[in-house]
Amino acid sequence: MEDKMKKIAVVFNGGTISMKVDERIKAAVPSLTGEEIMSMVTGIEEFAEIESYSFSSMPSPHMTFKTMIKLSKFIKELLERDDIDGVVITHGTDTLEETAYLLDLTINSNKPIVITGAMRSGSELGYDGPSNLAASICTAISDDAKGRGVLVCFNGELNSASEVTKANSMALNAFRTPNFGPIGIVDNNKVMFYRETKNTETYDVSDIKKDVALIKCVADMDSTLMDFVIEKGFGGIVIEGLGRGNVPPKMVEGIKRAIEKEVPVVIVSRCFEGRVHESYGYEGGGKMLKDLGVIFGDTLAGQKARIKLVLAINSGLSYEKIRDIF
Ligand code: ASP
Repeated sequence: MEDKMKKIAVVFNGGTISMKVDERIKAAVPSLTGEEIMSMVTGIEEFAEIESYSFSSMPSPHMTFKTMIKLSKFIKELLERDDIDGVVITHGTDTLEETAYLLDLTINSNKPIVITGAMRSGSELGYDGPSNLAASICTAISDDAKGRGVLVCFNGELNSASEVTKANSMALNAFRTPNFGPIGIVDNNKVMFYRETKNTETYDVSDIKKDVALIKCVADMDSTLMDFVIEKGFGGIVIEGLGRGNVPPKMVEGIKRAIEKEVPVVIVSRCFEGRVHESYGYEGGGKMLKDLGVIFGDTLAGQKARIKLVLAINSGLSYEKIRDIF
């Protein structure tokens, strides 16, 4: 007897995948509906039954925490339905890694969740929306994709939302996983995984009341931005530090002031690959930062560390608990 066809919910949520060039301004703007995009994914009815939802048509630079949390709730409700086997979401690529990570950290489901988009609009030669959507649906119907958290699918590659970053502003394989590479591929409509990822934590957050600032270190930086952020009442600070996790000496005073005020400070590296560590003992070196109480963010990129810290703070975790989760 043939297996019953799986049902996948496709949630359209804007991005270049739903854009075309407006000839008057010669630039891409939202214009394609979910139905129009789905009609280009020819032959998909042989793989899955599709239920489409129009969540938004937003460009991803317009994404907010409020919308991310609303999207998370919407997807949780879909996943709770017995007749839905998996969910595919479209998203603009610019902030995709942030939403994907927030979904990963707030949804606790064994069913496949795949997020995709397009690097070329519907007006460009080689529009990659339909092929990315097809590969994402093939991933969502795969039993092997279960229990892996949120997956990001572009150009036939699968990356984990907890690791991936947009590494190229124009290439079709814009999404890469620093240090480790993709966790799998979609080859001939079949999904293959090469490795596991650790995906255990989820946070129960229904509202983001406190934001986290991200400060990128540069040579000769002082504490001006740190002090500004503390004064503005941010709930936490992520520093994209130098190399192994060091800062210019003039930033140390600002870091001390943040920690005195119990504002959690997480340090990651501004380098694309590698992890932070308390290797250096000079003024502003990682050892001094560790001793001051700065939390080390391992291999996370700054924008992802910010998402994690935002969720940690807004779910009421203590400084000590926040240290443990990083
Ligand atoms: N700027 C677009 C967006 O993030 C880029 C894309 O979707 O590829 O919405």
